[in-house]
Amino acid sequence: MRLELLDQGQAPHTAVIGCADSRAPVESIFDALPGDIFVLRNAGNTCTHAEGSMVGSLEFCIGKLKSRLVLVLGHTKCGAVYGATKVHLQKKKEAVSTTTALDGLLSGLAVVAEKAEYDMGPMADEEFVAAHAVKVNVFHTIDYLLQYSQAIRDGVASGDVEIQGALYDLSTGVVDFMGRSPNQAELLKSEVSLPPTVLQISMSGLDTAIIRLDQGNSAARSGKLGVRTGEDTALEPEDALKRLMEGEPRATATSSPMRKALVKQGQAPHTAVVGCADSRAPLETLFDMMPGELFVIRNAGNTATHAEGSMVGSLEFCCGKLGSRLILVLGHTQCGAIVGATGTYLANQGKPTMKPGEGYHSSGWNRVEQLNETRFFR
Ligand SMILES: [Zn+2]
Ligand SMILES: [Zn+2]
Repeated sequence: MRLELLDQGQAPHTAVIGCADSRAPVESIFDALPGDIFVLRNAGNTCTHAEGSMVGSLEFCIGKLKSRLVLVLGHTKCGAVYGATKVHLQKKKEAVSTTTALDGLLSGLAVVAEKAEYDMGPMADEEFVAAHAVKVNVFHTIDYLLQYSQAIRDGVASGDVEIQGALYDLSTGVVDFMGRSPNQAELLKSEVSLPPTVLQISMSGLDTAIIRLDQGNSAARSGKLGVRTGEDTALEPEDALKRLMEGEPRATATSSPMRKALVKQGQAPHTAVVGCADSRAPLETLFDMMPGELFVIRNAGNTATHAEGSMVGSLEFCCGKLGSRLILVLGHTQCGAIVGATGTYLANQGKPTMKPGEGYHSSGWNRVEQLNETRFFR
């Protein structure tokens, strides 16, 4: 299986944006095999600080790997969202200063807490507001993706890509599929094509000609080689969703006392891992870890080049609040993101690559490629 995935490449049927929380291992939740899903994770499954790595990674997955379903997966008792709610409610009483990347991550989620507070009314206590904020946050992430990525908007508008939300219940192990964002139709009219933080550094050239989704050819079937590889065509979004729903009850069957203990006592992961979103590198499986053991942060290329964003804040959350003392950055062979960055670098060698108006700067994904290039070759 490992060799097929290497020879034929990956063709994950779904991209999942989940939380880094050690109690929410995305592959286990859906009983997925290597090759099935492309997994992006940070603290709070958020794109509020979509400096490029989340939006860019997703553009890579739907553009180059041709996945047609994007699922934003929140979970109950999310420490990041609860933390953001707490900070938001505190701020109304006293000034709270922003000094760390984690503060930045949490204050980026303030809009989520604010909406949750409004929805629940003035009498609701912090716990209720925070529990609701978890759901609000799922749609907020979807809205952000629609708002700031032309490639994603184009995919959704043409029916090639479907973005939906879901909520994982830590105590029951059940996933509640929540469907599309209520704001989707409105957001498809958005004209912003890069996240604000990327716009600040990108000079020009906002066309997304590079990302072109394949039309049509999408017979629903599992992997030809027993596992989904590059040999397989993209799954229709509804078939991908079906695959996730079929896997979830199998995963739920396991150990509910363990799940309960993890909810009641909270998590204390021994290691934070920064890994690639690649569907062939499922971190918990690689290390044979149980839920609760690893805090998992993933994007395309296991990169933190956009240091101001969610990667650093998520790590600070893990080491600061959860007390983890080991951080492992895990690369993998044949990494599509690094191969892409290398290709871009070599293709542009000797050219004045930073010229305004060049298509090179056109998408969030290219931005990631470009920064990877800086990191590895300078
Ligand atoms: Zn969480
Ligand atoms: Zn990779």
